[in-house]
Amino acid sequence: MNFIYYYILAVKLFLLAVVPAFSQGFDFFYFVQEWPGSYCDTKKGCCYPLTGKPNANFGIHGLWPNYDDGSYPSNCDPDSPFDLSEVEDLRSILQEEWPTLACPSGDGTKFWSHEWEKHGTCSESVLSQHSYFQTNLDLKEKINLLQVLKNAGIEPNGTLYSLGYIKNAIEEGVGFTPAIGCNVDPAGTTQLYRISFCVDNTASNLIECPRFPRSNCPSRVEFPSF
Ligand code: AMP
Repeated sequence: MNFIYYYILAVKLFLLAVVPAFSQGFDFFYFVQEWPGSYCDTKKGCCYPLTGKPNANFGIHGLWPNYDDGSYPSNCDPDSPFDLSEVEDLRSILQEEWPTLACPSGDGTKFWSHEWEKHGTCSESVLSQHSYFQTNLDLKEKINLLQVLKNAGIEPNGTLYSLGYIKNAIEEGVGFTPAIGCNVDPAGTTQLYRISFCVDNTASNLIECPRFPRSNCPSRVEFPSF
């Protein structure tokens, strides 16, 4: 009797120790991009990076591990700080595709380190620091969001578009439903700000989102210039 009890206890302890080491610990990723014109149009404003005004294109915000219930892990590994030397080979392309717009002007490392430390450290079982940044770059290239919108006649020139039209154009062009987030400029106009897609928890494929964050966009939104 005692033997069976201790045997079951040993198996339970073994599973508790081993299973978390093999599971990713989250369900899917959001891959988030943002429109720089909308970031800069808020009351807070923006500062161009030290390398100069970024291209008029969507910028990467980050790849965020998420749970199916809508919550997410953050700051998972204080022992894994951002290390620029690990992504030295990607530095110039990161400056182009993942520009910082925060004030005061910076070289990008503060934004990248925030994203790595808050989100990236929670997917270390799947992506090393280098592959975290490389995966973001690959996803951006694969999705080619601005071109998809332009193909549908949706241009960043201050025009108001129907949110449904934008969503449909992206769904048709990319093949997956986006999550769209908005912000409001000082005149009270709602603008297209954040566009996110879901990625499976091995960071290999775009997927339909298991869950969408609540949208804060009205039925018509401005796509401002940058
Ligand atoms: P997160 O904590 O990953 O949700 O990111 C939110 C933070 O990222 C906020 O502090 C934003 O101000 C900041 N942020 C968003 N876009 C940019 C950007 N292009 N450059 C610098 N910081 C940014």
